[in-house]
Amino acid sequence: MNQINLLDLDIINKLPKNKIKDLKLYPVYAESNSIFCVGNLNTDDTNYLKFLYNKEIILKKCGSNELEKIKDSILLNETVYKIEEQIIEKAISLKSSDIHFEPFQDSIKVRFRINGDLITFFKIRNDKYKEMLSRIKIKGNMDMTEKRLPQDGKFKYDFTDITYSIRVSTLPLVYGEKIVLRILYKNYNYTIEGLNLEEKQNENLYKIINSKRGIVLVNGPTGSGKSSTLYTILESIKDTNTNITTIEDPVEVLIENINQISLDRKAGLNFSNGLRSILRQDPDILMVGEIRDEETAKIAVRAAITGHKVYTTIHTKSSKEVYYRLEEMGVEKYLIKDAIIGLISQRLIKVLCNNCKVKQRIAFQNRDMEVYASKGCESCNFTGNSGRKLISAVHYIDYFMTEEKLNELSNKQMVDMVLTLLKKGEISIEIYEDFIKGEYII
Ligand SMILES: [Zn+2]
Repeated sequence: MNQINLLDLDIINKLPKNKIKDLKLYPVYAESNSIFCVGNLNTDDTNYLKFLYNKEIILKKCGSNELEKIKDSILLNETVYKIEEQIIEKAISLKSSDIHFEPFQDSIKVRFRINGDLITFFKIRNDKYKEMLSRIKIKGNMDMTEKRLPQDGKFKYDFTDITYSIRVSTLPLVYGEKIVLRILYKNYNYTIEGLNLEEKQNENLYKIINSKRGIVLVNGPTGSGKSSTLYTILESIKDTNTNITTIEDPVEVLIENINQISLDRKAGLNFSNGLRSILRQDPDILMVGEIRDEETAKIAVRAAITGHKVYTTIHTKSSKEVYYRLEEMGVEKYLIKDAIIGLISQRLIKVLCNNCKVKQRIAFQNRDMEVYASKGCESCNFTGNSGRKLISAVHYIDYFMTEEKLNELSNKQMVDMVLTLLKKGEISIEIYEDFIKGEYII
């Protein structure tokens, strides 16, 4: 007889969810005064199960394949382990940044964003999704009955001894509400070394950091890791003698010993009025999540000129473009020139999976060259890539900005870094060409 058929849900449901993951001995079914278990007999589990069920523990033999099946069935039993929990844990273990639940006519597609790409992982049934949607709304402190308007919420999720913050957003689509869960990884190690800068860039960064006043703008497209760079800088400069205050949309990573404020649209707290209030609190160093409107731009630049140090991000393709963007936002040219002391441009670029990349000979700039191409294997989810690397251009500006100097603020530093990565076999020729061809040389 197949032992899985013997799984007794009443017995399994008594197991606390957190405990299941640690067990090496699994209860399968009960008979009179005994609990029959499979797995590895050990004192801790035996004592625990004895206590939980108040019965004797008897080990039943089973093959390793069968044991795996039983483990899976116990873990997949939704009465103890809900579908969203399986999905969230799978997403975290793959270091996904977002989980998308997309309703279609016949089912719900579940995709993870990993290294910037959306990859389909599961399909779930509409009825299961409806139940899950309600549970997520309750968890996220959202209105369960509201199905026609977009909503935001958040909840905490414990997994492998780490508490993750998860942001929820819902959006009504034709076939139902789409949910996106954004997973916030607090256990990131923000260090300057982790920024992957070259020696000269590192020197520039320290000059920027050591300047007492001025504005520093990290620029790049969406998803290029701009906020992580700001967090890294704040992490490296925080000490007890300085007052560092941030205003973010929303706070994504908590850093000890600094004051962090999240925007609150419902309460009317936005970047510009938040920034005004912070300036009244005598800060030494300010971080503004993003400059995206005229008022914020003007206040931030003025703060930098009046002796504050301001760190922020702006959505432009190059450092040079930052000057024009601020001008477009109505900030006076001479103020911009006076305020800016540092510009950091950056991109995140996909690196090849070391497990499966294959050698390839190509003609490169009229020369024969050996590079690596992507292939795909289980460990990289058949994408051929594993993770991304930050590439940057770091400009320290301690001179008067002229038109000529402005033209020097190109992305050449980044182009050089990408070429080095190609030569070292860390990226493919396709990624290199995409980068060069694209919008990036400005
Ligand atoms: Zn691979």
